[in-house]
Amino acid sequence: MCLMDENMMATGDDEGVVKNGTQVVAGSQSGALYLWQWGEWKTKTPPSGPDRWVGHPSSVDSQCKLDEETICTGGSDGILRLVTIVPKRRFEGVLGDHGEDFPVERVRMTAQQDFLGSCGHDLQLRFWDVGFLFEQETIDQTENRSPVSATATVNKFNPLDVNLDGLLDNNRRWAAAVEQEDPDFFKHIAVKQEPKILWIGCSDSRAPANQIVQLGPGEIFEHRNIANVVNHSDLNCLSVLQYAVEVLKVEHIIVCGHYNCGGVTAAYGHHQYGLIDNWLRNIKDVYRLHRKELEEIKDETLRLRQLIEFNAISSAENVCHSTIVQNAWSKGQKLTVHAWAYDLESGIAKKLNWCRSHIQDVNNIYMAA
Ligand SMILES: [Zn+2]
Repeated sequence: MCLMDENMMATGDDEGVVKNGTQVVAGSQSGALYLWQWGEWKTKTPPSGPDRWVGHPSSVDSQCKLDEETICTGGSDGILRLVTIVPKRRFEGVLGDHGEDFPVERVRMTAQQDFLGSCGHDLQLRFWDVGFLFEQETIDQTENRSPVSATATVNKFNPLDVNLDGLLDNNRRWAAAVEQEDPDFFKHIAVKQEPKILWIGCSDSRAPANQIVQLGPGEIFEHRNIANVVNHSDLNCLSVLQYAVEVLKVEHIIVCGHYNCGGVTAAYGHHQYGLIDNWLRNIKDVYRLHRKELEEIKDETLRLRQLIEFNAISSAENVCHSTIVQNAWSKGQKLTVHAWAYDLESGIAKKLNWCRSHIQDVNNIYMAA
């Protein structure tokens, strides 16, 4: 490792040396990459000094060379990025993600060039399958890929597939497989939808409703937003609710929060994130309403888990406070509102001991005749 000044460094043997040894790349705390011509170290400005390329949104904490033209950077935002250095600097895509709370400490390529190993602040060593980067005509080989599996979790999306042809290939294989199993499936489903369930969940990519409860297309009407907030002034959510209850006549509404929710974690903290802070304010209100119970929990992780549960219940209560649900109950419509929490670490969803199915269950102040 050599220190170039107080804000930047090049790590490892040849980890930042590309273009057959003629260029040196170093990340910096500002997120910029500095590029030197080999041997021209003394001056600090181009043409003989380092060239500066601004690009990363946060500090570049580690890097490794992939080949003579590309490197992988590890950021303080937990993201591993594929960056082309020559002929032109540019981001090619994301190779891995530790999560924003876990800056990437080290990233290295295996000798066989098939996996990237990275270590984050959570002390977990992760391996990322990047063999496809070194295959010839990678994108044309997508047809040979194995069928899409419901169990795989590591990114299968090829960041080099900028036209998304691989996704459309996946889609065609999936449609063919469904049709093979049930030749009339798409014909029937195209006529109308009759879902019995409205799912209100978090936008988090790790909490997909249909997959979690193993239901197919046509079975879940779905609304997702950051941290599964239901708010009486959100026209989007209320429109979904109205359509689901009054037109589709769903029989169950599941508000499903999830542990490790970035939205709830952000609301629990005091950082400014911009516009989204206004949305997360709803969760701060949940905290305020349950402050005493929450602050009796000394363990921070358990307290956050409890806040996630309270937030799901609060959203479920807000569903019941709507005139849409109250009118349905008044008319005798069969409708139950549930609050659940899904555990990303085990894949298990559980009931939160909260369930409502009668107008009498609604807190009096929210009742509308
Ligand atoms: Zn979430």
